[in-house]
This record gives sequence, structure tokens and C-alpha cells, in this order.
Amino acid sequence: MDRQMIVAGNWKLNGDRSLVQEFTDGFANTSFTNFRPILCLPNVYLATVQNTNFGLGAQNLSEHLSGAFTGETSVAMLKEVNAEYVIIGHSERREFFQETNEVIAKKLKTAIDECLTPIFCIGESLETRESGSMYEFLAEQLTSAIEEIGIAGINSCIIAYEPIWAIGTGLTATPAQAQEVHAFIRKFLAEHDQDIAVNTSILYGGSVNAKTAPALFAEQDIDGGLVGGASLNFKEFLEICQAAEQRG
Ligand code: PEP
Repeated sequence: MDRQMIVAGNWKLNGDRSLVQEFTDGFANTSFTNFRPILCLPNVYLATVQNTNFGLGAQNLSEHLSGAFTGETSVAMLKEVNAEYVIIGHSERREFFQETNEVIAKKLKTAIDECLTPIFCIGESLETRESGSMYEFLAEQLTSAIEEIGIAGINSCIIAYEPIWAIGTGLTATPAQAQEVHAFIRKFLAEHDQDIAVNTSILYGGSVNAKTAPALFAEQDIDGGLVGGASLNFKEFLEICQAAEQRG
């Protein structure tokens, strides 16, 4: 996949039909020249969205293709309702649903094998950052994925660096802090494959809003954002998308 600016909204367990309609109408009246936003909606709303000019994403998928897995959603089901993307490895799934690096790696493989693009999230807690083992921790998250999908599989992913301490806290990493980690991720990938490192889109996530987006997106290794809270307000999300479009 070619490296590009991307803004993906993650609605988490929020929103309703009328908000979906507001975004669908809003984006129908908006045009971007070289940029297409992505919205990762709760699964039940995916099927209600038709003919949009934003990309549709899910927030999770089963690593299994079918079978006795009550409450799960398969990759084929997501594709049938026009999802093109899926968030995998979000820290909330790791923390509240006990998703390990191993499970996440299997989910990445399932998505990639069936041509759904993963938005693969990695990120450290404040404790890990302060203990000085942040880079080891991030390398382990990446290595576990690469062992399952190969470095070529990374070429089919969008990576999102989301420091846990910045998610939903209003504490955005500074552009310099984020850039430093993005540069590390790219360098880590380059140790496996230079071309893939250059071509991978690496998003920053963690309290991105319309005010902080322009400076973050101006950094050399930041290719856009994964946006939670601010993706629930159309005007704010649109401004974030416009910041990405301007950086082009
Ligand atoms: C997220 O959930 O991926 C996220 C970054 O949330 P927020 O923007 O609300 O911090």
C-alpha cells in the first residue's frame, strides 16, 4: 500500500443512526482532492451506510472465519457490509477484552488474508514510558505481528501509534514526542524492509482534535490520525480531515 495521509474516526461504543446520517450527509457535501476520511463505526451501523465518500471501517473482528463463537463478527460479514478497514490491537481491546499480542497477530492475519485493511494499533502506558522500556515494548508489539504476518503483511496495514496515556485523556503527545516514536517505528520496519518502511502510513492517536491536528500532521513521519472523541462531532472531525488534506 502506498503511504498517504489518513484520518480515521473511531466511534467506539458511541453514536446512533441520526449521527451516522449527519456524517453521511455532511461528507456528501464535502470534497477532498487527494484524501478520503475513514469512519470506524459500531458494526450494526455499517450496513446502513451506502454510497459514501468516506471509507468504512469496523472496530474489531473475529480471528475465526466462522463457527460457534457467539457474539463475534467475521471478516466475510464485515466485507459484505462494505467495510474496507478494521481496527486491530486497540489498547481498549487489549485491556478490557484481554487481547494479547498473539490474538492480535491472528486477527491481523485473518484481515489481511481476506483483504480487509487493518489499522494496527500499538502504544505504551505511562508506566512503561517512564520505566524507560517504551521502545522495547513497542518493538515487541511489532515483532509479534511480523512473526505472524511477515514484514510483507505490514505493507497491507496502516499502523496507528496510540500512547495509552493520551487516549481519551485530553493529554495529546507533543508533535515532537509523537514524531520521535513514529521515526522509531519507521526505523524498526526499515531493519526488515526499507521499501515497506517508507511506504507504511503511520497514524498518531491520542486526544487529537482540530487544534492539535495541524502541528502533529506537519511532522515528517506522522501520516494522519486515529481520532476517538473528536470524531463524534462532524464539524471538528471535518477540520481534522482538512488539516490532513492540506498536508496532502
Ligand atoms: C482512540 O480511541 O483511538 C483515540 C485515539 O481516542 P481519543 O482521540 O478520544 O483519545
